[in-house]
Amino acid sequence: MINKKHKKCVLCDGDAVMKCSKCNKDICLKHGYCYIDESNIAITQNAPMLCGQCYIKTYRIKKF
Ligand SMILES: [Zn+2]
Ligand SMILES: [Zn+2]
Repeated sequence: MINKKHKKCVLCDGDAVMKCSKCNKDICLKHGYCYIDESNIAITQNAPMLCGQCYIKTYRIKKF
């Protein structure tokens, strides 16, 4: 049986709370990444939420 009440993260069994703005994958908080400015460690206001794969592709950064 599939519980349709909560969408599940495509990368783990957690509840999906957002979508990757590039590939539209349902992702949980743990697997969603927002671009963080390394110099002031502030989340860029209008940065899209991305899954890990899209984050790497977009910013060419491997560390999280
Ligand atoms: Zn997850
Ligand atoms: Zn994605």
